[in-house]
Amino acid sequence: MTTLYSRELEIAQLAVQRASILTKRVFHETSKGTVSKDDASPVTIGDFGAQALIISALKHNFPHDSIVAEEEATELRANPSLRDQIWELVRTTSLDDVAAEGLLGGGIKDADAMLDIIDLGNSKGGRVGRIWTIDPIDGTKGFLRGGQYAVCLALLEDGEVKVGAIGCPNLPVDDAAPLTVDIGANATDDEGRGVLFSAVVGQGATSRPLKAGALAEGKSISMKPLTDMSNASFCESVEAGHSNQSESAQIAQKLGITKPSVRMDSQAKYGSIARGAGDIYLRLPTSKTYQEKIWDHAAGDLIVREAGGQVTDTRGNRLDFGVGRTLATNSGVIAAPKAVHSQVLSVVQEVLGVK
Ligand code: AMP
Ligand code: MG
Repeated sequence: MTTLYSRELEIAQLAVQRASILTKRVFHETSKGTVSKDDASPVTIGDFGAQALIISALKHNFPHDSIVAEEEATELRANPSLRDQIWELVRTTSLDDVAAEGLLGGGIKDADAMLDIIDLGNSKGGRVGRIWTIDPIDGTKGFLRGGQYAVCLALLEDGEVKVGAIGCPNLPVDDAAPLTVDIGANATDDEGRGVLFSAVVGQGATSRPLKAGALAEGKSISMKPLTDMSNASFCESVEAGHSNQSESAQIAQKLGITKPSVRMDSQAKYGSIARGAGDIYLRLPTSKTYQEKIWDHAAGDLIVREAGGQVTDTRGNRLDFGVGRTLATNSGVIAAPKAVHSQVLSVVQEVLGVK
């Protein structure tokens, strides 16, 4: 049966699956080809390679769509040895299912074409038309630490998220696996790990094992009904610079949450609460000037909402993906089951002094 966005969903999931294979190859290398960006955040050969493969698949299938992607190729044009390392990875990564690889249009012609493809992610975003957002490796710091990371892709249409896919190579496959506080650490063994979350607006959210070829069978996921706050588990960033951890501790205490926070990198947090492994995701601004990036939230926002959750910023507003490359009009993120979101939000506002 063809449903709305079914082709976009299939391509998005396969593109994320293929890019995840590339990132896993880099994850298991000691040297990840890390360079520092202008804002001092790290980027690896995995980030560039994954972005190239995803954009190549999108351009093959949806040549008229715009793309907002995190990375750009300027540094690679000036550094042939880095470019060649990435090209070697990209050239040798494919889905092991011929039909699935065919749907993505196969490989990229050469290293120069790869650089041009990476740079196609330079759209300014905005409220008009179809725009894909890509975070080729979300949580690069977790990726480098040997922890959680995610390959994230979403389709915006006129500023609204319509399709989202998140590949989490290091999360347990099992949706029912409880979140442990060490979930973000030492994911060195692939056994039992790797999940692909997805959602289409109005059609619910799904998880399936992350595979190396065709898509595995999906299962519908939903947030856990949260009846007792003392049993709630909440997720936040590992990086204290990305979310205020002392404020979140105060909020948890006021809500009556007794469990310690589960810290993990990337949009794996959104996926984890969407499938009921955790309950609440708090992202509390650490600075007045930082603007969240749309590629860090678009897929997760839709997946949580389609799983029965509510996602707002700390002011109680929906995340607005139509402003540009950043969520310039929002501040932080509060994601929780619909039934308790307003309770969580009011405590967040009390602690942060927001009005
Ligand atoms: P997480 O793994 O959830 O901590 O989020 C990773 C993302 O945080 C990266 O992709 C960055 O785009 C983003 N980031 C970088 N600096 C900040 C900051 N000061 N506040 C919030 N997020 C940030
Ligand atoms: Mg990111």
